[in-house]
Amino acid sequence: MQDATPENTAIQNVQDKISHTAKIARRKSDDITLVAVSKTRSAEEIRPLLGAGHRIFGENRVQEAAEKWPELKSEFSGCELHLIGQLQSNKAADATVLFDVIHSVDRTSLIKALGKAMREVDKNIPCFLQVNIGDEEQKGGCAIGSIADLLSAAQKHGVEIIGLMCLPPADVEPAPYFALLAELAARHELPSLSMGMSGDYETAIMLGATHIRVGTALFGPRG
Ligand SMILES: *Cc1c(COP(=O)(O)O)cnc(C)c1O
Repeated sequence: MQDATPENTAIQNVQDKISHTAKIARRKSDDITLVAVSKTRSAEEIRPLLGAGHRIFGENRVQEAAEKWPELKSEFSGCELHLIGQLQSNKAADATVLFDVIHSVDRTSLIKALGKAMREVDKNIPCFLQVNIGDEEQKGGCAIGSIADLLSAAQKHGVEIIGLMCLPPADVEPAPYFALLAELAARHELPSLSMGMSGDYETAIMLGATHIRVGTALFGPRG
């Protein structure tokens, strides 16, 4: 039995919702990976979640992850770190050392840099193609029309793409965008879907999410 700290309660709540939603969707909750988004949180804030047994975390900046995670990884075995934020090609090598999964691959130059970096350290990092699903101006992610070309580039450079990721436009109903991402993944025979955050992960699970990225619901509001 674990003590009922606020962190334990928060993760238990999220896990209960995942199970409940998976049941409604007639899916197995084991097929849904909860990525606890620990960006902006200090090691002290992250430790209780690790203490509660959670091991899969998401960070959006290479530099910030490099400052926090080597120590946490040495304290808690079996950590899996996901990069969910934009990645500059010149940080590909650092990202390759730190991260186990990358959700934000969105252009050929980055694919090339990642392929090279992974070969150099002999590490295969499964990646998602991030899609600019709402065709928004200032947003990361590739255009829907360039998915096929990027998949070819990934194959050419030895980068394994396991699925698609999106961040739907803010303040509108996300379900149509999640459904579209699921359709695009199916069309390209990609098994994984990274979609859904604190406010909409249940909807995302109903529409096929295999990876949900949840921060606020686990850690509270970001300062
Ligand atoms: C911050 C962030 C999340 C988590 O958002 P919450 O609303 O705190 O759950 C998910 N995905 C990405 C890409 C993020 O940057």
